[in-house]
Amino acid sequence: MSDAILVINAGSSSIKFKLFRLVGEDLDLAIGGKLDGIGVRPRLTAREQGKVLIDHAFGTEEVPDTHAAQVAIGNWLAQTVEANIVAVGHRVVHGGLDYSKPVLVDDAVLDKLASFIPLAPLHQLGNLDPIREIRKRSPDLPQVACFDTAFHRGHPEFADRFPLPRFLYDEGVRRYGFHGLSYEYVSGALKTLAPELADKRLVVAHLGSGASLCAIEGGRSIESTMGFTALDGIPMGTRSGSLDPGVVLHLIEEKGMSPAEVGHMLYRDSGLAGLSGISNDVRELLASPAPEAAFAIDFFCRRVAQSIASLAVSLGGVDAIVFTAGIGENAPAIRQKVIAGLAWAGLGLDPNANDDNALHIEAPGSRIAILVVPTDEEKMIARHTMRLVRPPT
Ligand code: ADP
Repeated sequence: MSDAILVINAGSSSIKFKLFRLVGEDLDLAIGGKLDGIGVRPRLTAREQGKVLIDHAFGTEEVPDTHAAQVAIGNWLAQTVEANIVAVGHRVVHGGLDYSKPVLVDDAVLDKLASFIPLAPLHQLGNLDPIREIRKRSPDLPQVACFDTAFHRGHPEFADRFPLPRFLYDEGVRRYGFHGLSYEYVSGALKTLAPELADKRLVVAHLGSGASLCAIEGGRSIESTMGFTALDGIPMGTRSGSLDPGVVLHLIEEKGMSPAEVGHMLYRDSGLAGLSGISNDVRELLASPAPEAAFAIDFFCRRVAQSIASLAVSLGGVDAIVFTAGIGENAPAIRQKVIAGLAWAGLGLDPNANDDNALHIEAPGSRIAILVVPTDEEKMIARHTMRLVRPPT
């Protein structure tokens, strides 16, 4: 049986997993799967090199919550997969002030990570649950926590502070930034894909159901649009992005909404879903003839373009813009609208390359390179996990 690393990316309504076989120093993706629709329409799907291994719909009562989903995935893996799992790597959204790199988890680390739950209520609890469950079942199996915040921990104070009294900063009310594993992967991938740009001034736009942008120079994060929580920055599928903080006060003081109700609105009912009143999914919005759908798309693209311009200030100029994640990698119409908003700065797209989701999509005369680079957060987690459990000799 070959050695393998299991990667778990547990969200609030889905758990994604990937199994990488260790081949010498390399990691080969063997199986990728997910259990989504937890509590609503649970469904476990997994593939091995394109071949469907399972596509099974559960009853809602069989998989009512993420805990049951983990058990279902664990049972299926144990029955199906012939591999000696030597370590498990987990995506953990928040590493707080303490973790600027991945860490092997023990009880003390788990307690520390649990103390960050209030910083990322939607994600952190679900991220930690599988770690606890696996520790119960296999206490000796090494588990590694990889953080979305870690890549950004070296931010200068300008990028790390809110314009609030100092004591809050000292208590940890800071602009942490998220999607760090994706940015780390993309910036590393450029070393092979476009080595002449890898160490230059980059703005990477991670546009998925959660979305943010990051200024990177010399392979290091300089500033991100996301701040204290994954609510900040550009509007997302269902999250608002940045707001006048006075709106939040208004909702609580004048409209009598509870903090939980406001939280629900900002995390679940806002963004593209709130703007359009139709859907949080860019595919559906692009296909819809409704003017509200077009408005939501235009609003989103305008905010992305504005963020690129703003991060250009943090970098003192930009050498390349890189699109990644579900929308960034697959939606030529979105990239086209974003770059149209930056035409004044001499940016332009090659329409054919853009339609093909090619690596380089800038027009020949564009002042700045524009790229599409698929991200792979799970591969990044597997690499970090391997480095900690099998350090290079
Ligand atoms: P996450 O990993 O955060 O769930 P993804 O990076 O998978 O998100 O991005 C999901 C989003 O990508 C979907 O909500 C959808 O809007 C968008 N998306 C995926 N494929 C396409 C496509 N072909 N065209 C437009 N948008 C797409």
